[in-house]
Amino acid sequence: MKASGETPLMAQYREIKARHPDAILFFRMGDFYEMFYDDAEVAARVLGLTLTSRNNGGAAEVPLAGIPVKAANEYLRRFVAQGFRVAICEQVEDPKLAKGIVKREVIETITPGAAFSDDLLDSGRNNFLCALVLRAASAGGAAPGGRGARADAVYVGIAAADLSTGEFRLVTTTRADADAVLARLAPREVVVPSAEAQGAAELDALLAPLGALVTARQPWEFDHERAADALTQQFAVASLEGFGVQPDDAPALGAAGALLRYLREVQPSGVPHLARPVVERPGGVMPLDEMTRRNLELVESLRGGEDTAGTLLSVLDRTQTPMGARLLRQWILAPLTDVAAIAARLDAVDSLHADGPARAALRETLDGVRDVERLAGKAAAQRATPRELRALGDSLARLPGVLAALRRTRCGGVLATLVDGWDDAAPLAARIRDTLMERPPLSFGEGETIAAGQDAELDDLRAVATGGKDAIAALQAQERERTGITSLKVGYNRVFGYYIEITNAHRDSVPAEYQRRQTLTGAERYVTPALKDFEEKVLGATERIEAIERRVFEALRREVGQAIAGLQAIAVRVATLDVFAALAEVAAREGYVRPAVDDEAVLEIVGGRHPVVERMMPRDQFIPNDVALAPDARMIILTGPNMAGKSTILRQVGLLVLMAQMGGFVAAASARVGVCDRVFTRVGASDNLVRGQSTFMVEMAETSAILHSATARSLVLLDEIGRGTATWDGLSIAWAVSEHLHERVRCKTIFATHYHELTQLADEFVSVRNYNVAVEEAGERILFLHRLRPGGADRSYGIEVGRLAGLPAPVIARARALLKVLEGEQLVPALAGGARRAAAAAPAGDQLALFSGPDPLVERLREVDANGLTPLQALALLAELSAAA
Ligand code: ADP
Repeated sequence: MKASGETPLMAQYREIKARHPDAILFFRMGDFYEMFYDDAEVAARVLGLTLTSRNNGGAAEVPLAGIPVKAANEYLRRFVAQGFRVAICEQVEDPKLAKGIVKREVIETITPGAAFSDDLLDSGRNNFLCALVLRAASAGGAAPGGRGARADAVYVGIAAADLSTGEFRLVTTTRADADAVLARLAPREVVVPSAEAQGAAELDALLAPLGALVTARQPWEFDHERAADALTQQFAVASLEGFGVQPDDAPALGAAGALLRYLREVQPSGVPHLARPVVERPGGVMPLDEMTRRNLELVESLRGGEDTAGTLLSVLDRTQTPMGARLLRQWILAPLTDVAAIAARLDAVDSLHADGPARAALRETLDGVRDVERLAGKAAAQRATPRELRALGDSLARLPGVLAALRRTRCGGVLATLVDGWDDAAPLAARIRDTLMERPPLSFGEGETIAAGQDAELDDLRAVATGGKDAIAALQAQERERTGITSLKVGYNRVFGYYIEITNAHRDSVPAEYQRRQTLTGAERYVTPALKDFEEKVLGATERIEAIERRVFEALRREVGQAIAGLQAIAVRVATLDVFAALAEVAAREGYVRPAVDDEAVLEIVGGRHPVVERMMPRDQFIPNDVALAPDARMIILTGPNMAGKSTILRQVGLLVLMAQMGGFVAAASARVGVCDRVFTRVGASDNLVRGQSTFMVEMAETSAILHSATARSLVLLDEIGRGTATWDGLSIAWAVSEHLHERVRCKTIFATHYHELTQLADEFVSVRNYNVAVEEAGERILFLHRLRPGGADRSYGIEVGRLAGLPAPVIARARALLKVLEGEQLVPALAGGARRAAAAAPAGDQLALFSGPDPLVERLREVDANGLTPLQALALLAELSAAA
């Protein structure tokens, strides 16, 4: 639809914009990118730009916001950080040569998932763009990973690409495990079939926790047969079998097809550096759900955001290279479940741990290896600057040193496989270092880029340009001698170029071949053929120097780009080595030990510490604790007052298990870890409230997910189930949940709770143990010992705190009396009856006597969480109670 009277420029704009409706269009006009209409209004709002308007011929004025091209990166960064996509529309012909309106085209679209620029990337984490599709089992053939397919099963196909590193992965997984896979990839952007496609609601559920930009595309784009063609074409292979793609991988393949299509859309010039796809098979890796990742603060703190302070990652990250940092993050989010694979990693860490000097030497050589992976990716995408290419060359040149240092360690096992077939691309490194200056400029024209000796013409030209002054002096001396005119001068001006100036006094001695160019009052200016030659050389030199430098550089960059596969392989080796060295380093510094990892259903931690909390206090202030779980003691009920250290122990156990299963040493005096298939956590009130659900609802949903997914091989860590509702409600739920976990699931469980009543579970079930975190009264103060000891916590503890806080003696006495009444009531025995004793239950009237004649005061007291009261709240409560009595 053309607005009547519209200018040709605006017509061009609207035509291009129509092809990029979901992007902000940066429309190049001279030195500015302009945004019009809605884009301008968004820019005004998001970037705080001033909105102006542009005349549009006879049509209505157009809202306009512009940014200088020079400053575009910063604006781009802010747009993308806020989840926008930006289409860059350039002038694709020289405005001077254009007939009519300059031709314009979108040359690329920058989105959170499709970004190259360092400003848009975090070096410590991958920047994945994912495509996602749901498939019913029947559509995709058999079940992935050889699992028995259920007729109603839904599989999720995931394709993930990191444009900055070239990584490309395919995963087909079950609906249940998809959350964990996606959480690990943490995509910035997800391409999904548009809403009318089947399974849209399921998709939404998968996408909600990711906080990624969602890009919808037509369902047919996710077709796996079409995808197979696209992939064979992209990677120029005859079939996909070489990538290990099997019929089961159809869902992931479909996703990969949509992903490739989208990549072409955002990078119309192609994505040459995408590595061959790696098919990730589920199995061998522990799926970590969102709750567990968050509650245990693995790579993100509970405060959220990009800040990693206070996370396991922050403690473990002693990597030296960005590739290593990214890999470590991946390892933390994907603990292993295979004993042999874990042992292999532990062996590698162990040998680097044992040999301090060798480790130090290795880490020193790794320091200074830059982001080979991303630099190579940039080279292949023809985006690397001279300085970046040189950094790549210098990084490669450090690798022989890395290898030598590695050889000095006791390198068996995995380390030996890293040494085998080591190829550090030495010829390429030499080429880069020989070709480029040691410190080339950030961009062309800002200094010398290409080293001397690389191109004969370049060397000549440089000699001319830099030798210009010398040459002039020489020419002047030569002409003075030849003519005998000692005042002869060689000069330069813009209009006539180089000239020879001779004062009128010597006019008669001017040689015949001098051609007069300019007459001044007391002198004449001449040129000679030799001078003109020289002039041409000098003036043309600078321009030609730049052209040759660019040509040589681009050839080198192409050569490096073609070596991308080898460079990516190098990056993987370096990253792996870096992570091993980092894990060994942190183990040595923090006094971690090698865990014994096996397939038994046991967990024995002696002198265990919380790796993050211990770092926040002075050395040796953290109190180590022992925890043991085994089939005949598989559930621990952990009681103790607020601030005793229950949550810390709970999280500590989870963290130590995950550290062991990622193949690292653990913060303990000794540890035996029977491999867990999953670790589940439900800790404290989560801040899911922002998503509009009540705390209690969230708590129950999370608990329910655990009860459905946990197996006998799982570790379940529960903190305060049932607090979000009335006391007896909550207690009943907590009891039933524990009973279910103990009797049905039979997993290893630690349950931290305020409900003292739960300690009676130990009387009911043989494999339940009570522990409490000790506190001690020291005169007027309460000492938190943070020490775990067998048995339940002292029930009257809250009242004691009240006493210490100065509650009047009669109140304390009354509280004790009320507590006795409550304890005398029959609720717990009723719960404890469980199913087994249901038949023999006492008459209902007796059993729940407390519900028959409710005394308002007693009722009110039941609501009270004595341990959680502050002294002031206690006083207020007392006032309320006395008023009601
Ligand atoms: P709870 O869950 O019982 O309320 P927390 O686990 O939150 O208690 O611990 C309260 C505080 O006690 C923590 O912030 C920590 O500083 C300290 N703490 C916990 N465990 C230990 C320990 N083992 N050694 C030293 N300090 C500890």
